[in-house]
Amino acid sequence: MDEFDLIQRLARTTAVPRADVVLGIGDDAALLAPARGKLLAVAMDTLVEGVHFPVGTAADAIGWKALAVNLSDLAAMGAEPAWATLALTLPRAESAWLASFARGFVRLARRHRVALVGGDTTRGPLTVTVQVHGFVPKREAITRSGARVGDAVYVSGTPGDAAAGLALRMAAHGRRQRDPAGNRERLVARLEYPAPRVGLGLALRGVASAAVDVSDGLLQDLGHVTEGSGVGAHIDAAALPLSRALTAVCDDAAQCLRHALTGGDDYELAFTVPPRRERLLAQRVAPLGVRLTRIGEIVAGRGVRVDGAPAVLAAAGGWRHFRSEPRG
Ligand SMILES: [Mg+2]
Repeated sequence: MDEFDLIQRLARTTAVPRADVVLGIGDDAALLAPARGKLLAVAMDTLVEGVHFPVGTAADAIGWKALAVNLSDLAAMGAEPAWATLALTLPRAESAWLASFARGFVRLARRHRVALVGGDTTRGPLTVTVQVHGFVPKREAITRSGARVGDAVYVSGTPGDAAAGLALRMAAHGRRQRDPAGNRERLVARLEYPAPRVGLGLALRGVASAAVDVSDGLLQDLGHVTEGSGVGAHIDAAALPLSRALTAVCDDAAQCLRHALTGGDDYELAFTVPPRRERLLAQRVAPLGVRLTRIGEIVAGRGVRVDGAPAVLAAAGGWRHFRSEPRG
């Protein structure tokens, strides 16, 4: 495979037949039939080698993650994914690398029935840009601005795992490490193969008052919700769901907490739910098998505050909102 037929090959191998793709790859532009009566949700994210993923990351993982981070944004809006476009910049064309990249991308595209409808390849430093398109009924889109005082704050999964995975990966410098309990493998997988919460995002339609995906760290991303909604949030540190793998590799409780609150790359959803809808939330989510944890409450005021010792967190990245007392 050379880089110039990569997009065509990818489109063929995704083999996601969709009635709303009138004309896919192969002409000057794709022709798509947007769903009637729904809003088109569009998101785009770029991953740069050495910035968004470590140099030496497997091509399969890069292909997966480039799509995953975008599907995560659609999930946070309650949108159902439909189409994607891909722009790939490569230093050189290695067919083994390209085949591996394609495998990762296609595996996730198939899982969520996403059709690749266009793209481009160029020469340069390794950079992957994906744009995704999805649909959400007009009044059911979930934004960052709907949180109200008294709403419960939830997070899916176990935040902090990806940050711990990154720390382990960087510390190893590519050497194989002993990993008898599989914790290292589990955490690195959470970094490299995040599972976008697409099903959860759909289940949150008509339930969540606001949502965001956790890409830059729980505190920072929740800060976007409090800012967007003009409210504050109180997070109960003791309620944070820490995975067994995370607690096993942390030096101490403070480091665990730091990963969970400020670590990025988890691609979980953080969202708010009015108390009267919490039972509905439990019913909707039960069949999905996604772990949800109530970690706090929306309060009057500004910014996100965490119960406990702020000093240990101040040193880490992504703590801006944590530090912020009411901002002017
Ligand atoms: Mg996002």
